[in-house]
Amino acid sequence: MEILDTIIVGAGYSGLSAANHLYEKGQNILILEARDRVGGRVHTKYLDENTYVDLGGAWVGPSQDAFYNLIKQTGHETFPTYDEGKSRFWLNDTIKSYSGLIPPLPIGALLSLDFAIKKINKLAKDINLEQPYLSKYAKNYDSMTLQTWIEGQMSFKKARELFRIAAEAIWACHPSDISFLHALFYVKSGTNLDVLMNVKGGAQQDRISGGAQGPALVLAEKLKDSLRLNSVVKEINQSEKGVEIKGEGFSYLAKNIIVAIPPHLNQKISFSPPLSANKCQLFQRMPMGTVTKCYAIYNTPFWRKNGLNGLAASNNGYTSVIFDNSPKDASKGILMGFVLANQAKAFSLLSDKERKESILNSFAVLFGEEAKYPIDYIEQSWAEETFTGGCYAAYMPPGVWTSLGESLRSVEGNIHWAGTETATVWNGYIDGAISAGIRAANEILMKNK
Ligand code: FAD
Repeated sequence: MEILDTIIVGAGYSGLSAANHLYEKGQNILILEARDRVGGRVHTKYLDENTYVDLGGAWVGPSQDAFYNLIKQTGHETFPTYDEGKSRFWLNDTIKSYSGLIPPLPIGALLSLDFAIKKINKLAKDINLEQPYLSKYAKNYDSMTLQTWIEGQMSFKKARELFRIAAEAIWACHPSDISFLHALFYVKSGTNLDVLMNVKGGAQQDRISGGAQGPALVLAEKLKDSLRLNSVVKEINQSEKGVEIKGEGFSYLAKNIIVAIPPHLNQKISFSPPLSANKCQLFQRMPMGTVTKCYAIYNTPFWRKNGLNGLAASNNGYTSVIFDNSPKDASKGILMGFVLANQAKAFSLLSDKERKESILNSFAVLFGEEAKYPIDYIEQSWAEETFTGGCYAAYMPPGVWTSLGESLRSVEGNIHWAGTETATVWNGYIDGAISAGIRAANEILMKNK
């Protein structure tokens, strides 16, 4: 059997970036992808020739240089996310329009929220991105959830509620699910909380013309002779001959392997010899967030004529954060509602009709009756995707970073790990997926030096 230099498992942005880097250095590579498409958590669906929706990852923002570079190198362009005009806010029974990042709250709640955001940003500055578990106070931070910290800091219920909405929009899990140390790590990894939350100057600043999957499709075309779709990797066996990788109807041998899949999916692969105890335990403890993206498509972005930018935050109904995702030329109007965390779990129990009605009803309350009559409606529930299992990314519950975090990027024999969850900068984002892929590829190149 031919011995390849490196086999990459998974053709998301991380696997494709690793493969591209090794290919450019002259390696003989193979990418094995379970799905019938590349892009993984990034999937652009075209509704007609000009209209598309990004069912998964969509935005790019300042300091995401790895993604901006790839966008440019693959001949793509970005355009600003629409945010001209006022945003909407529906908290309990109050509905208001507002400008800026933070919705109008009573002054006490506003100050309390502002104080908490600044304090998180300050604490995050001291986190060690390479080894968060070695940060000062790591054990203390890792022994509590983000919710515990919030309750100790914010005495105003409305401030806590607004913070919950923001936290769920960032992590797609309830603040009581996530370690405070992980929250601080993630905040620093993405610069600070303001950058994570903002449109202009933040992670939601730009969209990619033609859809966020475009750059991945260009890489796949370049690497097409080394890419095998519909190939679920089921076994990885290391011996003195090399690393053998097997699935239904295929078996390959390579000197090195890069696994670039969501961490929990490693448990579906049989490793021989077995993975180290700590790596195995870590993969059991990195759950994915829960998110469904809901799109309503209209003939025009009708809310804009009323001075609204299509952005909204709400604690009513199922969708808590809404964006204008219309095409750049506004040839259609598209509203996208995130259904997140526990709301997404409850949402999944509704019928198709109930889910659609609840989303359109929220859109109508916030943007007017016209919202009830879209020309199309599309949903994507990421928890139901066999080869993803939830989104946007895996997170660390309390205790995991400090007990098992050292195993996140550890190499086992000739098996290396990539994927956005292994990134130090922009962890959880496409940018982090790309840099993690390149880091894993460099680990292999360094071995040959
Ligand atoms: P993945 O994209 O998950 O790629 C892993 C690949 O491995 C998949 O293609 C999968 O099919 C394959 N695979 C799994 N198991 C096997 C197996 N056994 N054998 C072979 N192949 C296998 N990020 C942003 O930067 N901006 C955003 O706006 C943004 N919004 C998001 C919104 C949603 C709804 C979601 C879901 C994600 C969002 N993200 C966003 C996160 C971003 O999409 C991910 O961080 C990134 O795409 C992860 O890339 P990856 O290559 O690490 O993993």
